[in-house]
Amino acid sequence: MTEQNAIANYYKYTGKKTFNFTTALVDMDGVLFDSMKNHTRAWVKLMKKNGIKCTRDEFYMYEGMTGRDIIKMKFKDGAGKNITDDEAQALYKVKTRYFTELGDVEMIDGTLSLLKALKAAGIKCVLVTGSGTQSMLDRVDADYEGIFDEQRVTAADVKRGKPNPEPYLKAMAKVNAQPNECIVLENAPLGVQAGHTAGCFTVGVTTGPIAEKDMYKAGADIVYPSMAAMEEALPALIEALKTQK
Ligand code: MG
Repeated sequence: MTEQNAIANYYKYTGKKTFNFTTALVDMDGVLFDSMKNHTRAWVKLMKKNGIKCTRDEFYMYEGMTGRDIIKMKFKDGAGKNITDDEAQALYKVKTRYFTELGDVEMIDGTLSLLKALKAAGIKCVLVTGSGTQSMLDRVDADYEGIFDEQRVTAADVKRGKPNPEPYLKAMAKVNAQPNECIVLENAPLGVQAGHTAGCFTVGVTTGPIAEKDMYKAGADIVYPSMAAMEEALPALIEALKTQK
């Protein structure tokens, strides 16, 4: 997929005729931080303790959903239990403790450089995450100092998390942006689906075990194999986004 083909395709299915790139809506886990390995480990531990069968791989596919939604779904499907929001919240606290006990996570290679390049091109960056893990949210401002707009969307802001488009729609409303002004930066199929359904030009970067084809299947407009590859393609992407239908 070339950048030119990707934008031509976007115009075709959205019916839009122009794209005025002003804003990048940026996911956190797997985009800013290499945190998914520890998240999937913590999920498996929580499920095992509660007698619910699971594999570690499946949690990569749920990435983007809020913890509350994942817990409700797994308890229903795996144990036939309908659990309340409060119970889900209490279990999420336990999962967060397991995650924290696994230690600090690294930043994803190349993301800081990519986001700096976006900022230098005059693009506003907004954090949009399904996470409610405060230790990680606190690290964003320290590790990505000066990158993000003060507006952000986290698990606390939405009723329906990814793959529902609500997080991205909320973010656009907060910064007064239209879908054809925004690119979404995601690493997981459900997050891609949310960005795509919100009407944004959605970029997938495969920073974990998920295949490129699964990102396209979820609705990605273009997929890059790394943040460095996306940064290298950024001038071409910005140029292509200026194309009119
Ligand atoms: Mg992610």
